[in-house]
Amino acid sequence: MEIVCLDLEGVLVPEIWINFAKRTGIKELEATTRDIPDYDVLMRQRLRILDEHKLGLKDIQAVIADMGPLPGAKEFVEWVREHFQLIILSDTFYEFAHPLMRQLGWPTIMCHKLETNDDGRITNYVLRQPDQKREAVKALHGLKYRVIAAGDSYNDTNMLSEAEKGILFDAPENVIREFPQFPVTRTYEELKAEIRTGSLRKIP
Ligand SMILES: [Mg+2]
Repeated sequence: MEIVCLDLEGVLVPEIWINFAKRTGIKELEATTRDIPDYDVLMRQRLRILDEHKLGLKDIQAVIADMGPLPGAKEFVEWVREHFQLIILSDTFYEFAHPLMRQLGWPTIMCHKLETNDDGRITNYVLRQPDQKREAVKALHGLKYRVIAAGDSYNDTNMLSEAEKGILFDAPENVIREFPQFPVTRTYEELKAEIRTGSLRKIP
């Protein structure tokens, strides 16, 4: 039995924080782990900025819904689900992913969660498990699945290494250079071709 595990941001949907910053014009939200390597410091800063701009979860979800999936992502997800079981493994939060999952036809997703108060203000974030993408692939192996995985960034490489087949999709040059063991794809057609190669079955 085979399962496909896909990263979300950069593979099926745009980078959520970067796009949110652009759409709202809140410059300070453009900071990423490249600017602030400590993830907790970065997240606390993001939540503080949202609070300062009086943006509650509903407002944020409306902006995210408007981003929509990447062109062709919905059809690609449908193709994967026709031929494999699909699990999206993402380091985003359920509450942010929700409006995008609706547009992708509600595929299964494993990610992290936010806490809100009665006013809908985000008060905290909860990471479900450290290194959760790799742990998910390990757990699927425990259930006797073969795993084909695709992602675009550093937080995917453990998942790609753990899988029977790991594929880079639209990855930046530095990631491609540091991880030459993974095939590089740029379009959904190329990604489909690599998934077919990774499968033990003949996939149309
Ligand atoms: Mg990504």
